[in-house]
Amino acid sequence: MATDQPSVLLVEDEPAQREVLRYNLEADGFSVTAAENGEEALLLVDEAAPDLIVLDWMLPNVSGIEVCRQLKTRSDTRSVPIIMLSARSEEVDRVRGLETGADDYVIKPYSVIELMARIRAQLRRTRPSVVGQRLEYEDIILDAETHRVTRDSRELKLGPTEFRLLSTFMEKPGRVWSREQLLDRVWGRDIYVDTRTVDVHIGRLRKALCKHGGDDPLRTVRGAGYALG
Ligand code: CA
Repeated sequence: MATDQPSVLLVEDEPAQREVLRYNLEADGFSVTAAENGEEALLLVDEAAPDLIVLDWMLPNVSGIEVCRQLKTRSDTRSVPIIMLSARSEEVDRVRGLETGADDYVIKPYSVIELMARIRAQLRRTRPSVVGQRLEYEDIILDAETHRVTRDSRELKLGPTEFRLLSTFMEKPGRVWSREQLLDRVWGRDIYVDTRTVDVHIGRLRKALCKHGGDDPLRTVRGAGYALG
């Protein structure tokens, strides 16, 4: 089920390292999927693109660099941050030289605390609402940490689904989201929900946003979906 939890795909062939990381990520509120090789990682990304990928450089068969290169050339996965793990600093230099497009590099053995901090730094950029950031759009303020939304300084009451919808919109004002994309992001791919359900919740969100007056900030884009602003 989709939640406000950010999803991380962990690609690491060494079971012990994989499990330590999985444990720490889950304890920190991440939803984790794991792959033990590059092929499996690419298949998992095809199923559902994660919010972030932690990718070991040394993997059997398809290397981490190749996985990174492939994902960074695909328009649907290009924006997913990738943190590469590498055994030696010379490898990191080589990764940089290869211009694989990785967003960050961490050298093994790494401190889990440092890796978690790097993960959060990437997500603050790409998924601010899931790492407790405050989002603002015109007179609307959404505080992801306290789950409070105000408009023109007045508190708005939103249901959990409407809250997730609004945070999705507020992360990327102006972006047009199709109903299917909103379903994936807000409800999750593993749940069957009719696309009309999206319309119902958009209706509720609109009503809540305009409760104390103000223009409807949500735009219906015919044949495409919805956008904020
Ligand atoms: Ca490895």
